[in-house]
Amino acid sequence: MQFPKVFTQVTMQKPENSWMKKYPSTIYQSAFIDLKNAISRWREGLGGFPRKKSKKEGDSFTVYKTAGVYPEKGKPPLPFTNRVTIPAGKQIRLPGLKTFRLKEQINFICSSQTFTVSRSADKWFVSFVLDVEKIPPTIHAVQKAGVDLGVKCLATVSNGSKYDMPATTKKANTALGKLQWRNRNKALGNKKLQIAASNKAKKYYVRLSRQHLRISNIRQDTTQKMTTDLSRKVYNIRIEDLNVAGMIANRKLAAAVSNNCFYEIRRQLVYKQAHYGTKVELVDRWYPSSKTCSRCGHVQDMKLSDRIFNCSKCGHCQDRDENTSINLENAPPDKIRLA
Ligand SMILES: [Zn+2]
Repeated sequence: MQFPKVFTQVTMQKPENSWMKKYPSTIYQSAFIDLKNAISRWREGLGGFPRKKSKKEGDSFTVYKTAGVYPEKGKPPLPFTNRVTIPAGKQIRLPGLKTFRLKEQINFICSSQTFTVSRSADKWFVSFVLDVEKIPPTIHAVQKAGVDLGVKCLATVSNGSKYDMPATTKKANTALGKLQWRNRNKALGNKKLQIAASNKAKKYYVRLSRQHLRISNIRQDTTQKMTTDLSRKVYNIRIEDLNVAGMIANRKLAAAVSNNCFYEIRRQLVYKQAHYGTKVELVDRWYPSSKTCSRCGHVQDMKLSDRIFNCSKCGHCQDRDENTSINLENAPPDKIRLA
């Protein structure tokens, strides 16, 4: 790759960009590769024109093992595709950067070409790609099942199993609320009025971001485990094609919906198809899955607050989410599309 000359000879020389010289050139190379991809995607009509990234938002950068980073004396620069061997242990050496201490130990020797360093709250993470053998496809115990992603319960499967959000999410959310309430009188700072944040407020911001990270980690862990478990057990997974944006616009549902991350679950189920050999299908959002009787097919109105389905025709009585999941499983073929 040719390192763009305009950047090094013009942009970097400007006095307001003097901070750019503090960092190794490998960081900018990956940014140029990303820019190239973004522009070619825009040319093909796959995305919008790339926007400028602020230095402040989303702390992350990628480094590669590139030519000219570790050239041996008297020898030509190494080819771009050279991989870096990562020895097992608690240290990692990033190409073009220094050696870093890891919180978690790597238990095996591996190699990678790209390293992405990112920050969440006040913690730094490094992620890299590994080549591994694909897990042989599992034989699914259940052939077909409907899954109702709910507000009360994380997911209800039509074979009778249920997945719940752990109680720790509620605890962590309460702790967050308490933290915000107790610090409401601190001088939190205001840019418009040019009031600086107090030292105590700065410490509070770190604690606050850590608490937000903790909540999102619990959520991520639960949804990942749930989608993996589901993909292992069920071959044909049917979920409702929900209008998530519309549900978040409804203020009463918003917190519950974004809390249970419907879209994230769907995204995970879809990409895990390749890993576990599953088939994810979406049921039309206008199909009355929660209003239909799973025994006789009678359709009746249901309020959001009704937790039990009581059929007025055949007297069938069932939990709302269980009834919905069975209807999703048995949805007619014209209401189904592949995810
Ligand atoms: Zn009925």
